Amino acid sequence: MERWPCIVIGLGTMGSSTLCHLALRGVRPLGLEQFSRGHDRGSSHGQSRVIRTAYFEHDDYVPLLLRARAGWMALEQLSGRRIVHETGLLIGGPRGSEVVSRTSDSAKRFRIDHSDWTAAEVTARFPMFAMESNWVGYFEPTAGFARPEQAVFAALEIAEQNGATVRESVAVRSIEERVDGVVVTTESAELHADRVVVTAGAWSDRLAPWPRAPIRVTRQVIAWIDSDDAHAAREGTLPTFCLDAPEGFLYGCPVGDDQTLPAGLKVARHVIGTIVDPNAPRIDATESECLEIAQSVKRRVPGCAGPVGATATCLYSNSPDSHFMIGARGERARIFVASGFSGHGFKFMPVVGEAMADFVTMGTTTLPLGFLSPKRFLTS
Ligand SMILES: Cc1cc2nc3c(=O)[nH]c(=O)nc-3n(C[C@H](O)[C@H](O)[C@H](O)COP(=O)(O)OP(=O)(O)OC[C@H]3O[C@@H](n4cnc5c(N)ncnc54)[C@H](O)[C@@H]3O)c2cc1C
Repeated sequence: MERWPCIVIGLGTMGSSTLCHLALRGVRPLGLEQFSRGHDRGSSHGQSRVIRTAYFEHDDYVPLLLRARAGWMALEQLSGRRIVHETGLLIGGPRGSEVVSRTSDSAKRFRIDHSDWTAAEVTARFPMFAMESNWVGYFEPTAGFARPEQAVFAALEIAEQNGATVRESVAVRSIEERVDGVVVTTESAELHADRVVVTAGAWSDRLAPWPRAPIRVTRQVIAWIDSDDAHAAREGTLPTFCLDAPEGFLYGCPVGDDQTLPAGLKVARHVIGTIVDPNAPRIDATESECLEIAQSVKRRVPGCAGPVGATATCLYSNSPDSHFMIGARGERARIFVASGFSGHGFKFMPVVGEAMADFVTMGTTTLPLGFLSPKRFLTS
């Protein structure tokens, strides 16, 4: 039986980062991915992900995000790839929107550079938005978006250059903790590892479910708008945006010079989609879903309106409380799992990889992620 110091299962966002951090520490890990790197079946595709630092969801994420910033810079420097686009981020909503007010409060608490604007102040800078008079805006100049496929490629390249082995098209069937290690069974072999990291996204519950915390996998629709005014939708003119509109949360990322196909303004609605089996055939975006997105853009960002030119679907892995689940499983702390990223995990990619590498190499981490321990569900 092959023996490895560590096997990382699933090489999407979190697994590629974990493999990279382990390799940089000299661990020489094995990474297994059921599809190919950069595939479009999980949660890591679609050209862009919003990244921001002030966080309305929970204050304890902010120290992790500050740490992630350094990680993004290191990933770009080591790989030579452009991943982060600091386009600035506008968060808008009606006065009283908790998304806007809590983000602004978080920025104040952590002294994050930002501006609080009235509707008129927003449209004076960004006339493509239709801000109703009772709306307010929060602007974070150093936020923006990151390119997920580039990030995964970068992390895996660095991992391989530093002694990691990557095997693609290898699906893990099961993992079993034993006294002397963990047995990882794939379709064609049994492998032995001292430590195992499970970063299997929408498939996590099949390998390593958390007691009392089932993950709900949902289908999410993304669209690219062929804006009538292409200039208005470009990076440098349009910021990345999140709009907490009463009819539904709409977000988008401007068109960058390095954008591959599909072309156009990437937009989506951050609402929990329908529950799906990640192995079932994909259901493409329907006409009514496309129409709904195009209408939302027309209503809220009319300066960038236009028809839907392309769509894709992607998976959210929702934990019961929408917060991540990161920690050790089993009696001997040989298996570590990071799952339930609930549609907002991407921006944490570098720091989650670092934490998982800490667990593997030290059995613990000094990073402040105790609030993400799945033990919270055992006491509720
Ligand atoms: C439409 C959409 C928009 C999003 N927008 C944002 C955003 O703006 N900002 C943000 O921060 N986050 C965003 N997210 C969330 C973010 O992308 C996810 O939280 C993150 O990518 C989850 O990473 P992961 O590693 O858990 O899953 P994945 O990246 O999907 O990786 C899991 C990997 O495990 C592999 N795998 C599974 N089972 C096995 C097995 N048995 N054997 C081998 N391999 C296996 C899968 O094939 C996959 O490659 C968005 C997500 C979606 C879907």
